[in-house]
Parts: sequence; structure tokens; C-alpha cells
Amino acid sequence: LVRAEKVDKWFGRHQVLKGVSLTVEKGEVVSIIGPSGSGKSTFLRCVNQLETYQEGRLYVGDQLIGYEEQNGRLVALNNRQIVAQRRHIGMVFQQFNLFWHMTVLENIVEAPIMVLGQSREQATAKAMELLARVGLAEKAHAYPMKLSGGQQQRAAIARALAMNPELMLFDEPTSALDPETTGEVLAVIGELAKTGMTMIIVTHEMGFARQVSDRIVLMEDGMIQHEGPPEAFFGEGQSPRLKAFLSTIH
Ligand code: ATP
Ligand code: MG
Repeated sequence: LVRAEKVDKWFGRHQVLKGVSLTVEKGEVVSIIGPSGSGKSTFLRCVNQLETYQEGRLYVGDQLIGYEEQNGRLVALNNRQIVAQRRHIGMVFQQFNLFWHMTVLENIVEAPIMVLGQSREQATAKAMELLARVGLAEKAHAYPMKLSGGQQQRAAIARALAMNPELMLFDEPTSALDPETTGEVLAVIGELAKTGMTMIIVTHEMGFARQVSDRIVLMEDGMIQHEGPPEAFFGEGQSPRLKAFLSTIH
């Protein structure tokens, strides 16, 4: 479903992604780990077009993300085309990014109504179903401010799912949470993994990554240094690099 081919990204003169190639099959769960500043968020943001890459190719499904290829050259898409591509991709951030002036339910139905053109009834029915799934049915009419961090994050997940994404991106979804609420958010993401949703998860939660991932990717200095199934990753015969990284996190 996702195919990155030698993706390069610069911020000014600073190259942040250096030839990143990664394939994620439909239904696969891939976790990206790696030190701070290694380009994990930037990679996700390129997939979702919150950033643009400059070289290489990045496909989601049959769509070339951000560009049209004309005689081997990349020509940037216009805003409308970008919005259309992004519609199929859900993203959940470290900070929950809910609209503060709207209730949880309003947060969730906003995009399905405005972007997908669903009726309010249809969007509300789906939203209530999703809220039940993330264990927040009774908070539908609460404002985000009144919720715990974990509840806000679960609401943010429900909001992303309301768009019927074919791909979900998570950027450190629990790193702003305390340990008690981290578990409930990870449980929701774990359940989602079981439904066959294709997911890329940037996380520092190694136990969780090991449990839900089909594959784990170690990113360092803008490059993928290592990738493999969790057993290979955490089992015997780790590469020295991987050992070094794992020893830096608790
Ligand atoms: P962390 O684990 O701390 O979240 P990360 O792996 O997600 O780190 P990125 O946020 O992708 O790292 O950042 C990669 C590099 O790009 C860093 O050196 C960062 O300073 C730089 N960078 C990120 N965003 C910008 C920006 N908007 N402008 C300039 N440089 C940026
Ligand atoms: Mg990051």
C-alpha cells in the first residue's frame, strides 16, 4: 500500500531524509523507532503531505504522493489534488489536535460532513459507533478540555477513523500521556491493528511495538538502518547499531 523509493528531504541545506525506501503491504503494521531527530516524524509528515519531499518517489496505493510525473520530472500537485490524496490517510499526533471549541462528537463529524459530504445523521451514527469502539461513547457531548489526555487521544483516533482511511499514521501517540493512560491508548491501537488496518507507528514503546508490529524499522540519521520482524529485532543476533539504540531507551 505504501512504497517509498529513495525519498530525500531537505530543510534548507540540512538533509533530513537520505534515500528512505520502505514498503508497507496492505494490512501490515510497521513501527518506526530511532533516536530523536532521525527523521521519523518527517517521514510520516511526507506521507501525509504536511511536508514535501524533494527527490525519490512516494506512493500510497497507486497515487504518487505530492507530485505528477511528467517525462521523468516531478511536478507538484495543486492544493485540491493534495487534499484528495490526503483524504485516505488518517494521522494521529503526539498532541491530540482536537478542536477545543467543539464537542468530541462535533470534532468527529466535521470532516466526514465537510469533506466526504456525508449527512449529519450518517456521520453521527458512524461517530457514535467509533466512540463506542474506543470506549468513549459516554463522552460524545463533552468538550476536549474535560477529558483526560488518554481520552483525548482516543477521540483523536476516532476522528481519524471517521474518514474511512486506508492507512493510519501514528506519531508517538502516547508520548504526551502519563503511564496510566498510555495503556488504554495502546490497547485501542492494538485492537485497530487486529482489524487489518494498515498502519505506520512511530513509537518509543518497545514492548508495544514488539507486540503489534509485523515489522520494525530502525531509523537513524535520515536513513533506515535496519528492518525486520519483531522476533529478529529483539531476539538474538541484533546488529550492534540496534543494540546501541535499544540500550539508550528504558
Ligand atoms: P523525535 O524522536 O524527537 O520526534 P524525529 O525522528 O521525529 O525525532 P524529525 O522531527 O523528523 O525527527 O526531525 C528530523 C530533523 O529535521 C531534525 O534535525 C529536526 O531538527 C529537523 N526538522 C524537523 N522539522 C523541521 C522544520 N520544520 N524546519 C527545519 N528543520 C526541521
Ligand atoms: Mg518525531
